[in-house]
Amino acid sequence: MSDRSFLPTQFDAVIVGAGFAGMYMLHRLRGLGLAAVVFEAGGDVGGTWYWNRYPGARCDVESMQYSFSFDSELQQHWRWSEHYAAQPEILAYAQHVAERLDLRRDIHFETRVESSHFDERTNRWTVRSSKGGVVSAQFCIMATGCLSTAKVPDLPGLKSFTGQTFHTGAWPHEGVDFTGQRVGVIGTGSSGIQAIPVIAQQAAHLTVFQRTPNYSIPAQNRPMPPEYEQSWKAEYAERRRQSWTMRSGILYNLNDKPAMDATEDERQREFERRWQGGGIQFMSSFNDLILSKAANDTAAEFVRAKIRSIVRDPAVADLLSPKDYPIGTKRICVDTDYYATYNRDNVTLVDINAAPITAITPTGLQAGGRDHTLDSIVFATGFDAITGTLLAMDIQGRGGQSLRAAWADGPRSYLGLMVAGFPNLFTITGPGSPSVLSNMLGSIEQHVDWIADCLGYLQARGAASIEATDAAQDDWGAEVTEAGNRTLYPQTKSWYAGANIAGKPRVFMPYIGGVPAYRQKCAEVAADGYTGFRIGDGAAAQVQPPSMVQV
Ligand code: FAD
Ligand code: NAP
Repeated sequence: MSDRSFLPTQFDAVIVGAGFAGMYMLHRLRGLGLAAVVFEAGGDVGGTWYWNRYPGARCDVESMQYSFSFDSELQQHWRWSEHYAAQPEILAYAQHVAERLDLRRDIHFETRVESSHFDERTNRWTVRSSKGGVVSAQFCIMATGCLSTAKVPDLPGLKSFTGQTFHTGAWPHEGVDFTGQRVGVIGTGSSGIQAIPVIAQQAAHLTVFQRTPNYSIPAQNRPMPPEYEQSWKAEYAERRRQSWTMRSGILYNLNDKPAMDATEDERQREFERRWQGGGIQFMSSFNDLILSKAANDTAAEFVRAKIRSIVRDPAVADLLSPKDYPIGTKRICVDTDYYATYNRDNVTLVDINAAPITAITPTGLQAGGRDHTLDSIVFATGFDAITGTLLAMDIQGRGGQSLRAAWADGPRSYLGLMVAGFPNLFTITGPGSPSVLSNMLGSIEQHVDWIADCLGYLQARGAASIEATDAAQDDWGAEVTEAGNRTLYPQTKSWYAGANIAGKPRVFMPYIGGVPAYRQKCAEVAADGYTGFRIGDGAAAQVQPPSMVQV
């Protein structure tokens, strides 16, 4: 088809989103011989790495693991320049994959899906885009991401600000030059903690507005050691398999000993060794850090002591030290020079927990009755995570029931893959799956493979539909909640539980039972003929549309 602005209306599958999930899904569906199309709101592939171009953005799962495993030649040939690659390199990787697999010809960019409605007569989804186009497909696969709806807080006076505002999750492609500026950063989660040290080096003055301090571990990032890269490439397939046996889906050395069985001296040595090693594996110093408050306290206090040793001003160090929640129960942060940045003369920390921001003004913002004059404001205020992007669309299933209504009290899903009442609709890394608690690339591949295998099964059987049963969904929901309750996570207000969004139901959304248990469950369900799913026989009817429609 020469004119890409016209598409046939009938597809086997529509995929929404062209991040790593949508890209791999398209590849797998092509392999099944299915006609698939992708709609992507952004201008190119990459998802997270297309949008989050803020200074300092990089992965915190090491690059040898934060990469696709399905293409052996790709993982042998691709070379990461650093232990933790920066955003431009991860985006370049996504673009390379798109070229290698010739994906772009089936992706429509700058096309946002606004609604998707299920027709029970035909067992097909009607998908409408922001460009007014309508397509019909038997399957609708949401590859819309867990962290893809950036949230700017609704602060009074926001529109009156005469300087520039930015959100880390929608950063300008041309970059931002803060030279000579008074910059304010609101938010000290993973994004803020990565951006703050870099912005501080450029701005005339940086004011950080902190509501809740976070625990952050140094990345100890470094150029990729060639021998390390080689060690991975020599046994890539085996190491990937091993990673699936890890709770987080990330291969590293888990200490299988409880913290409280170690002496104080042993604990300190282990924490120090992990701190020097860098990154999120700090939380694997002992096997009970997320299970036992006493164990967790020892790790939390170790990090607080580190903060006191790095930050010269004791009052600032105290303010930066989390005290009210267990370490790791908000997503642990990974940084480069974060705490040391507060020793700079041009950086000020403002506690907006004690004295909240009351207004944005034309020249800056007001907090605690004080005016802060700013040229630019950076919102590092996070995302409406896991459900926000799905609920931003008008999704209607059986009987016209909306997903918003079905999830009014929090998301309900079978395995994070399908929702009862929404046949033929799949969610990649949906709520109730390990998703954000794991190496997301591994979890994406596992979901995509499961969905592709399922569609192959339906194809072979000539089935028209598949749908999660209410009973299976309820049982799985109970398991997700129980798994969460076995840990310290529910004690903390976090985006994992929707606590960062006003009015969002407080439900711990990801499945924390671990990647191995989850993978086994998914595999068993498939091997047993998709237990917990209802399969409807008879081919999906084709509706009679005009032969082409503009998208
Ligand atoms: P995304 O990459 O979010 O892609 C979803 C795509 O769907 C987006 O491009 C979006 O534009 C599109 N979309 C959404 N709604 C619509 C719609 N209605 N119509 C059309 N298109 C739509 N995970 C890790 O495991 N390790 C890390 O180190 C790590 N670092 C991260 C760093 C940052 C800054 C952030 C924000 C997240 C990070 N994550 C990390 C999580 C990351 O989101 C995943 O690793 C992964 O990139 C998600 O891929 P995805 O394809 O599922 O979703
Ligand atoms: P986040 O973790 O939700 O952090 C948002 C920050 O903004 C928090 O400090 C929050 O304070 C603050 N905030 C939100 N609304 C506010 C308001 N109205 N007023 C004042 N402060 C407000 O978001 P994020 O930093 O973008 O990270 C989200 C997730 O993306 C991470 O947890 C991680 O999974 C992923 N990520 C990973 C990396 C990486 O290292 N690879 C980098 C960036 C992001 P409270 O805590 O008080 O709510």
